[in-house]
Amino acid sequence: PVTVMLGYSDMLSRWGWEDEEILDEGIAAIRSEAENMKSLIERLLFLARADLNRLVVNREIIDMAALLSEVTQKGQLIATHHTLTLQENAPARIVGDVVLIRQMLRIFLENAVKYTPVGGKIFLASQPEGNRLHVIVADTGIGIAPEHQAKVFERFYRVDTSRSKAGAGGTGLGLAIARWIAEAHDIRLSLTSEVGRGTTIHLYIPLVKEDESAGKAPAQ
Ligand code: ATP
Ligand code: MG
Repeated sequence: PVTVMLGYSDMLSRWGWEDEEILDEGIAAIRSEAENMKSLIERLLFLARADLNRLVVNREIIDMAALLSEVTQKGQLIATHHTLTLQENAPARIVGDVVLIRQMLRIFLENAVKYTPVGGKIFLASQPEGNRLHVIVADTGIGIAPEHQAKVFERFYRVDTSRSKAGAGGTGLGLAIARWIAEAHDIRLSLTSEVGRGTTIHLYIPLVKEDESAGKAPAQ
């Protein structure tokens, strides 16, 4: 991104004064590259801090139904070319860091949007299963071939297909961060996927037993 930004700044300083089209194109490109770089730096910092045990995980009771509806609502604002639905949303409380859990859900949603062609569907659902809450984030996108499915959680791993070159940029760090957050919360994380049909992320989050939560106020 830095090289692209430098290139466009040179172009702007040479021709940007006279040519309005070059001005618009240059500014848009620099802005978009700056955003990519911001996200890259944030992700690298997250993992660097995680490696050094410098990440503070605050634990409080989270109202998962409220969090899932919030994330779905905000997600729809970004996913303007996809339909996002929250199919089932069981009342449930978990213990965790709401900032991290929200970040993890956004990583899955961001991927669902990025790897699903325009017009596709994305859905979330949650239902209790034993002493865990089963949360899914599913899409009708391009899918992940079996040989890549375990590796996508590794740092910097990106499935190399023509469509990633075609514009879906990324750092390959999203799922590594999501996995770290899941482990820090004793959340079991897996995915199922079929090429050309879509991908489903499964989370099994430990539920708060109702007697444990008695008297404590839920946090969002
Ligand atoms: P970023 O760090 O910006 O999130 P990224 O999306 O490439 O970059 P990850 O989120 O870690 O990185 O995902 C790793 C790879 O797994 C992606 O490059 C993509 O090939 C594949 N992938 C992840 N989610 C999906 C999905 N929902 N559908 C299809 N492929 C996916
Ligand atoms: Mg991603």
